[in-house]
Formats: sequence, C-alpha cells, structure tokens
Amino acid sequence: MSGLQSYGAFDVIVVGSGAAGSSAAIAAARSGADTLLIEKLPFLGGNSTAVLDTFYGFYTPGEQARKVVGGIGDDVVAGLRQLGEVVERPNTYGAGTGVTYLAEHLKVVWEGLTSSAGARVLLHAFVQDVAVSDGRIDRLTVATKAGLAEVEAAVVVDASGDADVCHHSGFAYEAAGTLAPAQTLTTTFRMANVNMEKRRTISKDELHSRMAAAAESGDYDLPRKEGSDHITPVDGMVATVMTRIDQIRRNADGTTSNATDPDVLTQAEIEGRRQALEYVRFLVDQVPGYENAALVALSSQVGLRETRRVTGDYRLTRADVLNARQFDDQIGLCGAPIEDHHGGAGSGTTWEYLPEGSAVGIPLRTLIPRDGRNVLAAGRCFSAEHDAQASVRSMAQCMAMGQAAGTLAALAVRNGGEVRAVPFADLAQELRRGGAIMDMEATQ
Ligand SMILES: Cc1cc2nc3c(=O)[nH]c(=O)nc-3n(C[C@H](O)[C@H](O)[C@H](O)COP(=O)(O)OP(=O)(O)OC[C@H]3O[C@@H](n4cnc5c(N)ncnc54)[C@H](O)[C@@H]3O)c2cc1C
Repeated sequence: MSGLQSYGAFDVIVVGSGAAGSSAAIAAARSGADTLLIEKLPFLGGNSTAVLDTFYGFYTPGEQARKVVGGIGDDVVAGLRQLGEVVERPNTYGAGTGVTYLAEHLKVVWEGLTSSAGARVLLHAFVQDVAVSDGRIDRLTVATKAGLAEVEAAVVVDASGDADVCHHSGFAYEAAGTLAPAQTLTTTFRMANVNMEKRRTISKDELHSRMAAAAESGDYDLPRKEGSDHITPVDGMVATVMTRIDQIRRNADGTTSNATDPDVLTQAEIEGRRQALEYVRFLVDQVPGYENAALVALSSQVGLRETRRVTGDYRLTRADVLNARQFDDQIGLCGAPIEDHHGGAGSGTTWEYLPEGSAVGIPLRTLIPRDGRNVLAAGRCFSAEHDAQASVRSMAQCMAMGQAAGTLAALAVRNGGEVRAVPFADLAQELRRGGAIMDMEATQ
C-alpha cells in the first residue's frame, strides 16, 4: 500500500456517472452489490446532464419506429415524467424519435435512482491512477476535496467515457484520431424567449442556408453550417447543437493529441464558448423568432463524442452495424445510424442508416477489455471501430450497456471478480428480469 488514506473497499466501483455509469451503478446495486459510483463533476449524468437534453436510440429511425431499449432507460424516462414534461420528438431522419427532457430534472432523477438502488455516490472525485497486477485492478487512486485516497473493489466498471481506468491500467485502446478522423467536440447552449411560431416559418434547410450565407459574408465565424436547434419542455426555450471544435492537435514530433490532452481540452472549452456566443449573435440577427431571445445557459463542459475506445474481446465493426448483425452474446440493440461529425475543411455531418426497422446487437465482449480480468468498459469508450461507435454511442444504448456491465459486475463478485467466469445465460436471465431488450423478438 502507498500510505494514502483509504476510502474503503466495495464489491463494485463504477467510474464516471454518464448515461452508462449511472445505469451501471443502479444495476449493480439492484443486483445486491455494495456499489460506489465515482464522478468528477458536482452532479451525475455526464453528457446527459452537462451537455444534452435528448435521448436518442430508444427507437429505430424510419417510418416504423421500433423500441429497442428498455430496462433502466425506461425507469429514467418515468422518473423524468414524474418531475415535469418530457417531449417525444418523432423523427424519421436523424437518429429517430428523440426523448427531450429538462437536464436539471435528470440530475435529480439519476440521484434518486442511484440512491434508491442503494449505490453510494462520491462527487467531486477524480480517478487519477490505478494499481494493476496480472490484469486485475487492485485499487484506484482518487483525488477528492480531502486529498488523495485509495479505494478497492472486486470489479471496476470504466464508464469514464475517456476510458481513464483502462488508460491508467496500461490496457490497450484506440485513441480518437489515430486510425480514423476523430469526431469533433461541441459546446451546446440554450436560449430563452424564442418566438416558436415565427421560428417555424423557416425550415431546417433554410436555417442551414442562412448559416452558410452568414459564414460566407465574413461577418460571422460559424465553423459548422448545419447545426440544429430544437424545442425543450420549457415554453420559448430552445436547445442547440451548433458549435464545432476540432480535437486533434498535430505535435512537432509527428504525433497527435486529442481531447484527453489537458491543454487541448482547455483550449476546446474556451473555443466552444467563444463559438457559442457567435452562434447566438447569428441567431438573434438572422433567424425569425430569435429577435428577442437571450442566452440562458452554456453546457457545463464541452461535449465529447469520442476520445478513447478500449480494445475489447470483440471490436464492433462498421459492417456489423450496417448489416444489423446479431450475436450470440448480445446484451442490447442499436438502430441509430452512423452519425459522424467531421472536422477540418469540408466539414459536415453524415448519416448512414441500417436497414429499415433493424438493429445491430451489442455483444457483451465489446464491454470486456481484452487486457483486464475484473474490469468492464461501458458507454462511449466501449470496444468499437470509429464508425460503429458513431452509431452505438447514443444515450439509450449507453444506458443498455451500463445496465449490462453493472449486472455482470455484481454477478462476477461471486467469482472473485472474474468477469469472464460468469455464464452468459445467467447474465441474460438477470437482464431480462430487469426489463432489458436484448433481441429483435423482444422489440415493440
Ligand atoms: C455535442 C454532443 C451531442 C450529442 N447528441 C446526442 C443526442 O442528442 N442524443 C443522444 O442520445 N446522444 C447524443 N450524443 C452522444 C452521447 O451524448 C454520448 O455518447 C453519451 O452521453 C456518452 O455517455 P457515457 O456515459 O459513455 O459518457 P459521458 O456522458 O461522457 O460520461 C462520462 C462521465 O465520466 C466522468 N469522468 C470522466 N473521467 C473521470 C475520472 N477520471 N474520474 C471520475 N469521473 C470521470 C465524466 O465527468 C462524466 O460524467 C451527443 C454527444 C455530444 C458530445
């Protein structure tokens, strides 16, 4: 031991409380594991509360939407409905029907679900280091307000989005931008006092041509020309996904850095807020309905779509997604298209769809880091090619992955934490009992 203070020993530790991590902690605690959820922010939810307000991935896109995610995701939406309005935005293009909520409510819903499940939560706590022996994580070092502390668990779920646990463990992963162009980053913002009736007088395409014209005029600095705005549960308040920040820095020694580099991340935060104010100016000047609108919130942090993807026992491929491949060990489904946000010259967003009404299976093996024994990875850092991750990263899928990882972690405690020692049938039974949708026959 290192002499640091101990924060205790748990059955399961989940690092990161985004859609994946909060779901993992809820699932592990519901399955009876003594669970600790560690989060560096002062609230739960990651992107789902710090950046966004719309769940995609519950439904397949297209004319006949099928619901492909249930379980904890349904509990989250039910919790949101208890606190206020939730808007279902049917969508035959994009990622399918979106479920739009008030992010401030979701913070409280995540807290309610984790605490009623019996999970312990530690906020303002940054996992900084990992002690590993023979593929087993022995303990984590966490920076807390009281100083550095060590904490132990039989199983660790890396739901940090950035695969921080696997990185500190020396486990293999692919850094965004090394094999394929990295997805760009976005600072989101909300505006109030928008006249929605007037806003609806122009189409999405007209909004985009006004953005392009404004950028070409040289009067506005708008790197992205096809950003979107959407209604929220609050009258006259819109939320946007408009800014675009390149995360790749080319270093003098020929290497590249992405948003896991502290300086790149810092610059991205500053640049995101600068761009957001520029888009606000454009909207007020150039878009009907925004004449009297005002900025009310910037995202708490810049939105990260991908940074590190672990190397798992299986790596989900682009072909798997586009062919809606099914797997013997699948723990969930995804019908969302490959949604790729490009940077650099000619930047834009592209969507590539699965066959109508279909969904790809998410294999359990994509949640098991190849180099670890008592560790799982869930959410946007799961094991996938760039293109496959650009589909399966939707928040409903992150919740499904989290539920599977948390449930498996709890089951593995009985096997000394060895995640591969749990029979898949045992996991499948527990997941179905928890309302998870694992195959097309179970979809509605
Ligand atoms: C701009 C943008 C728009 C998007 N739009 C949508 C959308 O409309 N709908 C949709 O469904 N999906 C959308 N996505 C994708 C989706 O939001 C993400 O893929 C998903 O939220 C990822 O969830 P996660 O739990 O894997 O990771 P995250 O939400 O990134 O959560 C990771 C958590 O881990 C914490 N953490 C990280 N490192 C540490 C550490 N070392 N110690 C402690 N805590 C740590 C973070 O603070 C964070 O809370 C969007 C993404 C972005 C960036």
